[in-house]
Amino acid sequence: MSEIAKHLEEVRQRIAQAAAAASRSAAEVSLLAVSKTFPAADVRAAFDAGQRAFGENYVQEAVEKIAALADLRGDIEWHFIGPLQSNKTKLVAEHFDWVHSIDRLKIAERLSGQRPPGAAALNVCLQVNVSGEASKSGVEPNEAAALARQIAALPNLRLRGLMAIPESAATLDEQRAPHARLRALMDTLRADGLELDTLSIGMSADLEAAVLEGATMVRIGTAIFGARDYSH
Ligand SMILES: *Cc1c(COP(=O)(O)O)cnc(C)c1O
Repeated sequence: MSEIAKHLEEVRQRIAQAAAAASRSAAEVSLLAVSKTFPAADVRAAFDAGQRAFGENYVQEAVEKIAALADLRGDIEWHFIGPLQSNKTKLVAEHFDWVHSIDRLKIAERLSGQRPPGAAALNVCLQVNVSGEASKSGVEPNEAAALARQIAALPNLRLRGLMAIPESAATLDEQRAPHARLRALMDTLRADGLELDTLSIGMSADLEAAVLEGATMVRIGTAIFGARDYSH
């Protein structure tokens, strides 16, 4: 068994245990393997171990990887999870299945307009700033409802839910607090009539806290692929 296959199995166990502790079914929590900075060969190893959804942060790197893995394209779901600038939206609209990091209407409008004819709607999540001043990305919670409604009206996007990257915290309780705020916001939006099914929270360090607070998709990099090296 490859190292990556072993790590994937460990992460699946963590999800199963956290789901059991939350009295949830593990099937409610999907695993997004965050492969940024790792080569296509590592994605292929994870694929061979049964993983099908992969997350990337850097457009150019991702597009090269997607091309190198073109033979798997029909079976892989590619998720863009990084900050997105206007001049990169076309590549993302053309190559990805999901975008988790939408926090401005302008980016959403461009993605909708640039989605290729005949392609399925692009699944999107609104990124919300649940940690206050600490993070520069993400819409403010009190502006999320208005933005969500505008995005839900765009023709080639399908608004699926909310995403957050809270500040790191040491204890389980501290990790749970921002996740709970995001879940409460999602409950409010759903009560207002938006059909949302995705709560994208939880990374390698706070997977358990996220699953306890209702995560439906956890985004895990380090625990699957190892520590990232940004030096090249
Ligand atoms: C890198 C990244 C992850 C994965 O983080 P790990 O701590 O390596 O699991 C998840 N979400 C986003 C948005 C990221 O940029």
